[in-house]
Amino acid sequence: NIPKNANLSWKKTPCRFCGVGCGVLVGVEDGKAVAVKGDPKSPVNKGLCCVKGYHSVIALYGKDRLTKPLIKKNGTYVETSMKEALDLIASKMKETITEHGKDAVSIYGSGQWTIPDGYVASKLFKGCIGTNNVEANARLCMATAVTGFLSSFGLDEPMGCYEDIDHADVFVLWGNNMAEMHPVLFSRLLDQRLKRGVKIIDFATRTTRTSMAADTSIIFKPQTDLAVANAICYEIINNGWVNTAFIETHCNFSKGLTNMGYGLEDNFKFKDKPQKIDFESYKEFLKDYTPEKVEKISGVSAKEIKYMAAYYGDPNKKVMSFWCMGPNQHSRGTWMNNLIYNIHLLTGKISSPGNSPFSLTGQPSACGTVREVGTLTHKLPHGVVMNKKHREFAAKIWEVPAENISPKPTYHTIEMFRALDRGDIRFMWIQVTNPMVTIPKLKRYRDGAKKEGRFIVVSDVYPTPTTDIADVILPSAMWIEREGLYGNSERRTQYFEQMVAPPGEAMSDTWQLIEVAKRLGYEKQFYYQKETHIEEIYNEYRRHHEGKKHNMAPLEVLKTQSGALWPYVEGKSTKWRFNSKYDPACTNGKDFHFYGKPDGKAVIWQRPYEPAAEEPDQEFPFWLCTGRVVEHWHTGSMTRRIPVLHKAMPHAYVELNPSDAKRMQIRNGDSVKLTTRRGEIILPASVNQRGVPAPMQVFVPFFDESMLINDITLDSFCPISKEPDYKKCAVKVEKA
Ligand code: SF4
Repeated sequence: NIPKNANLSWKKTPCRFCGVGCGVLVGVEDGKAVAVKGDPKSPVNKGLCCVKGYHSVIALYGKDRLTKPLIKKNGTYVETSMKEALDLIASKMKETITEHGKDAVSIYGSGQWTIPDGYVASKLFKGCIGTNNVEANARLCMATAVTGFLSSFGLDEPMGCYEDIDHADVFVLWGNNMAEMHPVLFSRLLDQRLKRGVKIIDFATRTTRTSMAADTSIIFKPQTDLAVANAICYEIINNGWVNTAFIETHCNFSKGLTNMGYGLEDNFKFKDKPQKIDFESYKEFLKDYTPEKVEKISGVSAKEIKYMAAYYGDPNKKVMSFWCMGPNQHSRGTWMNNLIYNIHLLTGKISSPGNSPFSLTGQPSACGTVREVGTLTHKLPHGVVMNKKHREFAAKIWEVPAENISPKPTYHTIEMFRALDRGDIRFMWIQVTNPMVTIPKLKRYRDGAKKEGRFIVVSDVYPTPTTDIADVILPSAMWIEREGLYGNSERRTQYFEQMVAPPGEAMSDTWQLIEVAKRLGYEKQFYYQKETHIEEIYNEYRRHHEGKKHNMAPLEVLKTQSGALWPYVEGKSTKWRFNSKYDPACTNGKDFHFYGKPDGKAVIWQRPYEPAAEEPDQEFPFWLCTGRVVEHWHTGSMTRRIPVLHKAMPHAYVELNPSDAKRMQIRNGDSVKLTTRRGEIILPASVNQRGVPAPMQVFVPFFDESMLINDITLDSFCPISKEPDYKKCAVKVEKA
């Protein structure tokens, strides 16, 4: 509702509310952001927006914005100056390092960090302080995608781009409620169906808005996607649909990294190392996964499995597979990612227009800040801490001695909170994320964080359950209240300028980190001019990635265009990596070159089906799955401040199958008690509303801080990626 006489200046930025990375135009009037529209020039969304995007600027102006630093004194928060707060943080860090060692301090960030935020955090903790206690919430959503890419291709992030949507004939969505989680991208799929009659197949554990809009909806029993993917591979081979020339030239077959635990307290070990196998033994392995055998495990009929396989196998059909949290938040997630790649590799349907296995991201910069900057414990901006050459390279750019960077990864996210509970970590700085809503088996970790002798700093824009555990709260500048860059799902780096002033004393996370770094004695390493620090930091960061395989576009380009896809070589984005027609880094003279692997070949992995970490039994007979809703961004800390979104989705609920609800005499809105081995929670029932789980399954969205479903979820994780499985645990369901 923009008034006709409004005198707005329109400025471009990527949207802040998901990994699609839509280009939006923000209308600013009298120093206030008052309107948003989709940027018609953006190749991502071509002028479209979703409900979160259209209302995004309202999130800047909630009544309870944090505007002053707060320090906890005698159990209550008192306002203080930014100087006093930063002095206290620096002195606590020094004290902790002196008394408990470098690995007692940590930072926990986010895929909502801008690229400069994550970069300076990594430089300060890994380069200067010398601890690898740097993690980000992307461990909870994208770590599996990373290990999937690395194990199959040797390099992270999708090889294709969104333009694939305009060329594909079939879209297969693997556990991906795209209509709610990536709405603008889903509208591009629907648009192609209208224009070209493409097919959309939704393969999921429950009926969602995505399945309702798909041509075909196929429901599988939780965890059995492993078996179904193998059955599709079996069918492809059995029907002679294998692209033999492709696999002979560009693929190896391997097995290994199996027989491990589920990340529950115990120290799991891989019982077997990766080992090359031949095509014949891979075929032999698949004999256990005929469609008829898998029907019994998965509940998916052999006919449906053959139907999916036929699309992948048809040489005249270009196929895109999309996935996000379904295969990623999975106790065998890395395997599940490998299995989708197997299907595309066997058929050679990869990295060419319209043929694309596409792992989507949830957060606006999960790719840019976490995977590219490397804000996970084992990562550096270029490479990994375990590699001496990578450490030396980073140390040179950071102007620190190479010995400063520890060669040992420390804690992944769940272990970091376990270390805080044990007391091995004593200081934690949390920025742009809300772990006291999102960590699984939350009650245990919340109690751990509150223990005596822990010092917690939280930088955020609104009060949350995480600021409730803080000793110091720093008010942060949000999105267009500061300058920054995000990297979206398709390797697109996008720049945004500061458009409005942050409220009160709020400052960017980058600035907060630099100020503490200087107080810790790292003036030389963090000498940036305040006015131009984002440009200086980005230019410094680009030096880590120079070269044809990962070159980032210069800032001047990003300022004038709707972003650019890395590798950015000779003034051009690379749209399809590893394909010599499009990728300048392919230099071996072959049509494809998977140069992330030493021999240039991708890996087809032998991955068995294994049951989930916790399966329903007599005491806890239902499956519990958690996830998001379209109206709210993650934990809702920002979107709940947007009245129209809050009104549309005011609280969490538990979705039940109508047959279960009828049997238990539960009607829509009735109170339902969910009990797991971790505790219990009461939620209103949702029957036949938005989503419909299969019988003996329930679904609960996690955005509502007044009904913390993660208090009762299970903290099991994929042992390769260390990403928790939020999609499955056993639960008892009763009318309350
Ligand atoms: Fe923003 Fe994602 Fe919606 Fe696009 S789809 S407008 S990036 S929330």
